[in-house]
Amino acid sequence: MRYQVAVVDFSGNYLSAVRGALDSLGWAPEVGSSYLIKPNMLNSKTAEEGVTTDPGIVSALIGLLRERGCRACVGDSPGNAYPGKSRAVFEGTGMMKAILEAGGEFLDFEGQPPEVIQIKGELVDSIPFSKHVLEHSIINAPKLKTHVQTVMTGAVKNLSFGCIQGASKSKLHTIGNTPEKMAKAIIDVYSYIRDRVSLNLMDAIVCMDGNGPSFGRSQRISKILASRDALALDMVAFRMAGIDPLCVPYVREGARRGIGPSSEDEIDLVGGPLPNYEFKMPSTFLRGLSLRLGSVVKRLVPRIYFDKKRCVKCGECAGICPEGAIEMAEYPEVDDSKCIRCYACYEVCEYNAVKIKQKSLPL
Ligand code: SF4
Ligand code: SF4
Repeated sequence: MRYQVAVVDFSGNYLSAVRGALDSLGWAPEVGSSYLIKPNMLNSKTAEEGVTTDPGIVSALIGLLRERGCRACVGDSPGNAYPGKSRAVFEGTGMMKAILEAGGEFLDFEGQPPEVIQIKGELVDSIPFSKHVLEHSIINAPKLKTHVQTVMTGAVKNLSFGCIQGASKSKLHTIGNTPEKMAKAIIDVYSYIRDRVSLNLMDAIVCMDGNGPSFGRSQRISKILASRDALALDMVAFRMAGIDPLCVPYVREGARRGIGPSSEDEIDLVGGPLPNYEFKMPSTFLRGLSLRLGSVVKRLVPRIYFDKKRCVKCGECAGICPEGAIEMAEYPEVDDSKCIRCYACYEVCEYNAVKIKQKSLPL
């Protein structure tokens, strides 16, 4: 089987770039259908900061769906979501305004109890999905970013973690307490949800490198990528960012299981040649190497600490920690012996108060 990935330039006109990407793939919405657009809405940081999906892309998608008489819904579950957080993030990023002005509907993932689906994954046996995810055909609209836990994040992870409701995400962190297990857990969830995905459209206009997904360096590369297959899309996007996609554990796991391309050789690029960038990898990238180099390298995995000058003592890091490794004294304190280096605390802190420290080499 061959997979297609379209790469188009973005020069300021969202509708023209999105339409160009979809036309290149030969994809069009089914007349009168109901779609859920699933952006990456990690927190209230904006698309221009390289964190969340560009509202202009979502707005263009809504316009194209409405042209075909479709219902256009938009929803996501931010990190450590609780009732009210999802709406606040959509409003804070300008996404809510874009949705309403384009004639779309906001769906609050936290507004109803999840639907727990039993699956037969290699690690995961049940998934608390947002009900909205199960009621529509999905248009996945991820952001291209580095990620301290998974090296990179794109289309596959936006579907797996992002479709799980609120605080239930932390259970996945517990199950995925090594890079290899996390990759398996992501692919277990993805294997279930992928059949519901009609299209993947990636925002690579302003991306993030370094210690993403929230406090890395924003990188404007002005591209939009599209594919019917999320794994194929990630392979091309990560190659474009300057990393061998098979160095990303979840890509390697997906390729191993054959749910999508098993290598880049099975992908046809539409609109190439593929540009090349050199994204700075997260300082935790060593963690990926530990899969191959064993326990000596694992001892070097960076640990976390807290910057008291930035910390507002909100307790969100302690709330999301799957191992109960963070205690709120006056400030948060981590028990290093319990910490599994999942970096969920780093991801959830909106104040950049959780820091990652590389251990020095033992001499
Ligand atoms: S480190 Fe961040 S998330 Fe944790 S209490 Fe401080 S401000 Fe809140
Ligand atoms: S302290 Fe942070 S990195 Fe360690 S287990 Fe808890 S959430 Fe994960």
